[in-house]
Amino acid sequence: MFILKRISNDPFWITARVMLGYKRQLAIAAIGLIISTLCFGAGLGLFLPIAKTLLNEQTPRDVLLQWLDHKGAEPATPVIEAAPGTPRPAPRRHNSFVPESVTDAARDTARSLVERIPQDPFLGFVTIVAVIAVLTLIGSAGKYLHEFSTVTIALKSGRVWRQRVFRRLIHAPMEQVLRRGTADEISRLIVDTNQVTTGYQAIFGSVLGDLLKGIVALGMAVAINWRLSLVALAGAPILAVLLRKFAKRIRRATKSALRQRGYMIAGLKEAMGGLAVVKVHDAEGYERRRFSKLNRNLLIEQLRSRQAKAISSPIIETLATLGVMVVACIAAWLIYRSHQPPSDLVSVLVMLGVAAGTLKPVTSLSNTLSEAGAAAERILETTRLPVEPTGLDAPPNLPVLPRHKRDIAVEHVTFHYPGQEAPAIGDVSLHVPFGMTVAVVGANGSGKTTLLSLLVRLFTPTSGRVLIDGADISGVDLRSLRKQIAVVTQQTMLFQGTIADNIAYGRRHEPRERIAAAARAAFADEFIRALPLGYDARLGEDGTGLSGGQKQRIAIARAVLRDAPILILDEATSQVDADSEAKINRAVRELRHGRTTFIIAHRLSTVIDADRIVVMDAGRIIDQGTHTELLARCDIYQLLTQTQLRREVPAAGVKPG
Ligand code: ADP
Repeated sequence: MFILKRISNDPFWITARVMLGYKRQLAIAAIGLIISTLCFGAGLGLFLPIAKTLLNEQTPRDVLLQWLDHKGAEPATPVIEAAPGTPRPAPRRHNSFVPESVTDAARDTARSLVERIPQDPFLGFVTIVAVIAVLTLIGSAGKYLHEFSTVTIALKSGRVWRQRVFRRLIHAPMEQVLRRGTADEISRLIVDTNQVTTGYQAIFGSVLGDLLKGIVALGMAVAINWRLSLVALAGAPILAVLLRKFAKRIRRATKSALRQRGYMIAGLKEAMGGLAVVKVHDAEGYERRRFSKLNRNLLIEQLRSRQAKAISSPIIETLATLGVMVVACIAAWLIYRSHQPPSDLVSVLVMLGVAAGTLKPVTSLSNTLSEAGAAAERILETTRLPVEPTGLDAPPNLPVLPRHKRDIAVEHVTFHYPGQEAPAIGDVSLHVPFGMTVAVVGANGSGKTTLLSLLVRLFTPTSGRVLIDGADISGVDLRSLRKQIAVVTQQTMLFQGTIADNIAYGRRHEPRERIAAAARAAFADEFIRALPLGYDARLGEDGTGLSGGQKQRIAIARAVLRDAPILILDEATSQVDADSEAKINRAVRELRHGRTTFIIAHRLSTVIDADRIVVMDAGRIIDQGTHTELLARCDIYQLLTQTQLRREVPAAGVKPG
């Protein structure tokens, strides 16, 4: 009961349940395991006639015939199913290895087979050895089946967990993922799932096979002479306590090591993502030192479990060997002082030796379980993240937000980032009628991005509400809200794939003509056609192969294709070439038409062009109006026009297409 309860609550066993879904492969694995264990058991069982032959007591044929004949006269001992440490009814000398359920007919067949074994001791010996060889071959085939299927199931289960973790991550509220760290989550998805997969392979594969063989050998030893075997088992409770102690330590250390690996991936992500910045700042040395520190910290955590890992195996081996030695001395006493026939005693010793050898994987079982358990715990943490109310687990019947056509209202909205004392946005109110272009300006960190993120419901306001056409966006179907908004940010998210895929991002069946039309509206068509493969040209990671201005135009094409009534633009701060900039400006101007637009503005021309300018400072809206009005009355705005807002780049002639 206790073990069952532990298994049902243990993260590793919880994740391992996914393996039960692969019924066919599980059945094959089980058949393979049974075949290999039975063959091993039968081969081992034949050791007794061999011992008796060698020790000149009886021929193998006589021993086997005696076993068969004694069936019924003595209590049968179904050795193969024997659990370790389960005392059997005291068997007398010539124990029967044939289970009671074997019918008379089967016994007769066995008898006729055994009778074919030559009476001559040498030839009998050779025959038995040949049978053992055949059993070994069949057992090996079984072992292959078992291992092959187990690895298949383990790898497939790993894929399932990667899928589940990703599904959660992509649907979890953004603040949750940010708080936990994207790199750590990536690490959970890649490293931790790999660790549990390795655990499944080891535990349900070789370890389980060896463990069963150990149990069979022990069972046989118990069947031949249970008193002697029990002496050897006396050390088992000590072993169990020690193993538990080591397992706990390994689990804790593994969890820290996995966390540390997450930090390292975070560092790597930054260094690789900002490779250009690193090189321009001549900061390779700095990054090397930073990485070296992360790398060292990982090593420290990895080393923490080394003692527990390294010591468990020698301890088990020593205790097992000591047990067998004690038994050997007792056996010797029985042989020399009590003059008992040595063959049984020697057989017990051999069985116990084999059991001690095969039970060795118990240590690796315990270590692997602890490591995989720590990883499983982290995986389950992620899969238990809450999800945003979109497709996955969406609460049904939330009203769908109709296409926006009236107004957007922000009412007394305050928002704190998780763990942040000061609000990023404090008591902000704003009313924007449909079709208006609003430029949001303010110093860095004044809350512009946060405010616009709340419109898309990337975050939920701590207090206050956002209304679109009078509907509180926190109470509407999230998909219907996000469908209405197109966002063009500074960091255009381009991914590996064709240009057409990038423009149609997330819309799988978009016709090529619509993609090309959107590209034309974004003045991207021209440069795309100039590429060797045109719309089918593949972009590298992060859109490598395109200039900054070209990337922006792809992003605009994406927004055009989306045809959303609300547009959020984050103007590029970095200089793009004059031609690109003029094209972007013109595309955006056309895109804005008939939509409610918010622009985080960095250029003077944009703010002058806007219907209204909202000035933000320290998370608050401090003023709003037109350029002329604000210039006349708002000091911060005046300052911004002199410092932050870029003057227009001299416009180049813009040709559509
Ligand atoms: P802006 O877009 O005007 O530069 P932001 O909206 O990005 O300003 O940031 C507003 C405030 O919120 C800043 O003080 C910033 O440090 C903080 N902030 C922004 N993003 C996060 C985040 N993910 N976690 C914690 N604080 C954040």
